[in-house]
Amino acid sequence: MKRRSLEYRSKMKENKLFQPVSVIKGIGEETQSLLNNIGVESVGDLLEYFPYRYEDYRLRDLADVKHEEKVTVEGKVYSEPSLTYYDRKKSRLTFRLIVGRYLINIVCFNRPYLKKKISIHLTVTVTGKWDLHRQTITVQELFFGSQQKNEIEPVYSVRGNLTVKAMRRFVQSALQEYINDVEETLPENLRKKYKLLTKQDALKGIHFPKNHDHLKQARRRFVYEEFLLFQLKMQALRKFTREHSKGIKHKKHEELLQKFISDLPFPLTGAQKRVVQEILSDLYSPYRMNRLLQGDVGSGKTVVAAIVMYAAVLSGYQAALMVPTEILAEQHADSLSSLFAKLPVEVALLTSSIKGKKRTQLLQRLEKGEVHIIVGTHALIQDDVHFHQLGLVITDEQHRFGVEQRRVLREKGEYPDVLFMTATPIPRTLAITTFGEMDVSVIDEMPVGRKKVETYWVKPNHLERILEFIEKEVRKGRQAYVICPLIEESDQLDVQNAIDVHSMLTHYYKGRFQIGLMHGRLSSDEKEEVMRAFTENKVQVLVSTTVVEVGVNVPNATVMVIYDAERFGLSQLHQLRGRVGRGNEQSYCILLADPKSETGKERMKIMTETNDGFVLSEKDLELRGPGDFFGKKQSGMPEFKIADVVHDYRALEVARSDAAILVNSPSFWKNDEYKPLREYLRNTGILNGDKLD
Ligand code: ADP
Ligand code: MG
Repeated sequence: MKRRSLEYRSKMKENKLFQPVSVIKGIGEETQSLLNNIGVESVGDLLEYFPYRYEDYRLRDLADVKHEEKVTVEGKVYSEPSLTYYDRKKSRLTFRLIVGRYLINIVCFNRPYLKKKISIHLTVTVTGKWDLHRQTITVQELFFGSQQKNEIEPVYSVRGNLTVKAMRRFVQSALQEYINDVEETLPENLRKKYKLLTKQDALKGIHFPKNHDHLKQARRRFVYEEFLLFQLKMQALRKFTREHSKGIKHKKHEELLQKFISDLPFPLTGAQKRVVQEILSDLYSPYRMNRLLQGDVGSGKTVVAAIVMYAAVLSGYQAALMVPTEILAEQHADSLSSLFAKLPVEVALLTSSIKGKKRTQLLQRLEKGEVHIIVGTHALIQDDVHFHQLGLVITDEQHRFGVEQRRVLREKGEYPDVLFMTATPIPRTLAITTFGEMDVSVIDEMPVGRKKVETYWVKPNHLERILEFIEKEVRKGRQAYVICPLIEESDQLDVQNAIDVHSMLTHYYKGRFQIGLMHGRLSSDEKEEVMRAFTENKVQVLVSTTVVEVGVNVPNATVMVIYDAERFGLSQLHQLRGRVGRGNEQSYCILLADPKSETGKERMKIMTETNDGFVLSEKDLELRGPGDFFGKKQSGMPEFKIADVVHDYRALEVARSDAAILVNSPSFWKNDEYKPLREYLRNTGILNGDKLD
């Protein structure tokens, strides 16, 4: 059961909704335990046990009904029913019915007793499956006379001997007897603002809606309420961790920083300028930064990182940039070194390949504060790595690092500011739910002049033509990646595939150009060597497993071929595609795929249609669902009872901004109308009672 405060519990004793469900007519001991099994203990629980779907008894025009769809119609009997028996006890009753301008057939199985009751001209209402070709409804339910039921009936998820019919009865009587004991949770101003039903009306509507609109309005209210409560929790958490966490108030050195920015080889995009300001204002504030920076592949996050690290260095601190792979660490270290070449800023690289004396010396310099910016892999978070004064921690491609690793790095300093960067655009709805307690900055603009990567979806039997295409590009001086099949959970097989493709290409292009091979089983020295050869164009075609996925930058590469592309998710395909199109030349991405499923085909099609990572991530979310987006373990997605983060995202946005306004306004913490919301917050255990009332 949920944890609840003592005060709350004693208060609840006075509340009738807190009584056990057995106070409801018809619920004896046995039913009570059946209900307990589905988590329904009190009357209140029963009222909040929402239907998971509805039976629709609306009368519809048959012209609008699809084959095999379920439908309810009302009509006049046109022919005497005929009854036939078969298979001993089984029977089949048929008659014809006039429904509006149609004359249709009705079939009723195993209800022989109906024969005597049905006669010509009688009005009946039937519900059943519509067979368009035979113009027949197979009856599931039949009533005499006009429709007697509600248009919509709730269907509850039940277990054991509990039936949906019984549940309807229990909920019905709970509503009749206790609805007036239900207290409003939403303050009137918000209810008025969004024209939301009262809680009492919404409860009636969610269980026994008068019509479709009633149901829609009931649902709307609960979706908003659910999101608002969730976001209040997030925003309150954010507010209190912020206010209670000591942070570094970095000193401003605007002139030097502006000079650095204007000395960059290119002007910043508007989006880069904006996020730099957002991050800087965190750095200069006394609070500790906890910010997520999202930006599509190639949107220029590295230079943003460089600017804000420089700000930390100017204020007398060190900055660390942690990345998931050695290749990436080296590239970042290289590009940062050249950005800071003319400045008194020491940039160093720390990976597990740096060993022995070199490492010892580096660690000493780091501890003395002689190194200002350090770039590295998880080698950065080893025990013997000590900083002089770490003031800013940035992790790139953050979802690759576990929560634990991020925590360890953060704790290497006193209270360093923390920035997470990710190139996997996270759909906004997911970002504000899973990262709801973080601040989010988004680079939603690409540097000018960037060409769209032309993407083609090609069936595997056209391999020959692709090889010719690669050849043409290489003759122009360009380079190509060939990414090998991903075989789930088998690193071994991945490697074998890459080896096979490598030898096939080596044979095919023999004597014309060099083919490199890259996979996770290579030692880091070997990897570095291959990468260097590719970067220096000593190797023209690089065959690789998905190791190259993250962040690798070889601007001269213009072709990305992905084998078995249907095995990848959209976000990953987009990441891979992001390895090309980094220079000035037109680049191409070729997806070799023969997907069998509709969603597989859909994915390939979308890839050819858009280069926008955010559009793709939203699509990915739609196709895979929120649970799968980050992979099961990492998802951390809250579950909502009624709201759907994908379809109700507008409500989520609204609730988020309302929640932010609420937790930051003094009246929220004082006024009576917000008491139920405050109580909710207290019961989540996030807040200590002292902030409340
Ligand atoms: P990512 O966001 O994928 O990490 P990078 O930081 O690697 O992107 O930037 C991709 C490329 O774009 C780099 O070569 C970088 O120098 C260049 N770049 C970054 N910002 C700009 C800009 N404002 N104008 C032009 N080129 C830029
Ligand atoms: Mg990057």
